[in-house]
Amino acid sequence: VTVHRFFVPPEAIAAGRVVLPADLAQQAARVLRLRPGDEIVALDGDGVEHRVRLDRVDSRRVEGAVVASGVSRGEPGRRVTLYQALLPRERFEWALQKGTEIGVARFVPLQTARALPGRDSASPGKLERWRRIAREAAEQSERGRVPAVEEARGFAEAVREAAGAGAALIAWEREAERGVAEALAGLQRTAPVSIFVGPEGGFVQAEVEAARAAGVVTLSLGPRILRAETAGPLLAALALFASGDMEPRP
Ligand code: SAH
Repeated sequence: VTVHRFFVPPEAIAAGRVVLPADLAQQAARVLRLRPGDEIVALDGDGVEHRVRLDRVDSRRVEGAVVASGVSRGEPGRRVTLYQALLPRERFEWALQKGTEIGVARFVPLQTARALPGRDSASPGKLERWRRIAREAAEQSERGRVPAVEEARGFAEAVREAAGAGAALIAWEREAERGVAEALAGLQRTAPVSIFVGPEGGFVQAEVEAARAAGVVTLSLGPRILRAETAGPLLAALALFASGDMEPRP
């Protein structure tokens, strides 16, 4: 049987007991129909998980005692930040969901020359929705942490930030020299990496040049043109494959 997993805020765990916050209590009691005696896993969001035996379940309050604790094995060794250009609604959400399953540590929605204009950029409501998608995908995929979903930022600012933070790669379908294998082989095995993926219309030449000038490495993902929501999770997966993070649990 699947043991349900819940990311809980730090204050939900105290003195060997876990009290689910209201929204999760509702879900546990009404949707999942858990009962006293059932076990759940409560994740502190910091990579530690607690097995909890429930002793009180009603739609207002769900709580139980911690029976075991340990470090989650769901987190990759390499930290991948995905700078993904904004996409029409559900396409961006697919990238978030699939990227979370794959093991992305942090998402940064990216405004670029050809990404969607104003209306579709990150409103507060949207950010909240994106964070919920990441949390649910992290629970389902047995991650130990919920990946961060940050506020959208402009391309130039993002390039500055990424170039200052270590290795950074940009997927460009017109790259004719460097493939993804070569680009990843150039990195230390588990070094953190930032990856940039463009919008439906691709990056404009000036963006690619600005990124290169800042030290971001351009790479090809092969001769096929991928949808943006495919390219982001794919490149994240390849970066985690190269770091040895696609192996059985220890
Ligand atoms: N509209 C563009 C393609 C954009 S694909 C065109 O027709 O030329 C969306 C994004 O996915 C691109 O900006 C790039 O970051 C990434 N991408 C898709 N296919 C790729 C490939 N074969 N190599 C490298 N990047 C790719």
